[in-house]
Amino acid sequence: MTQKDCMKIVQLRKTKNVLTQNKEATQMAKDVVCSVDNCTYWQHGNKCNAGTIEVNNHLASEKAYKSDETLCKTFKPQASM
Ligand code: SF4
Repeated sequence: MTQKDCMKIVQLRKTKNVLTQNKEATQMAKDVVCSVDNCTYWQHGNKCNAGTIEVNNHLASEKAYKSDETLCKTFKPQASM
């Protein structure tokens, strides 16, 4: 196998990885169910109308092992709060 063939294989693997990542991105949840009704993005029916949300570990220095160890960083209190 020539060096050129090896480089082609590496490039094909990189392309496959990008396609796999894109496929996973299109399979993310379409609807976010949320009960935080004092958030600017909250809508009746427990829906989130933010374009995207960012969810992080509750403590940045530790991993989350339960859902209550995560938090929505996109939360924005309603103006009247
Ligand atoms: S931004 Fe976060 S807290 Fe606010 S409604 Fe959406 S999911 Fe809930």
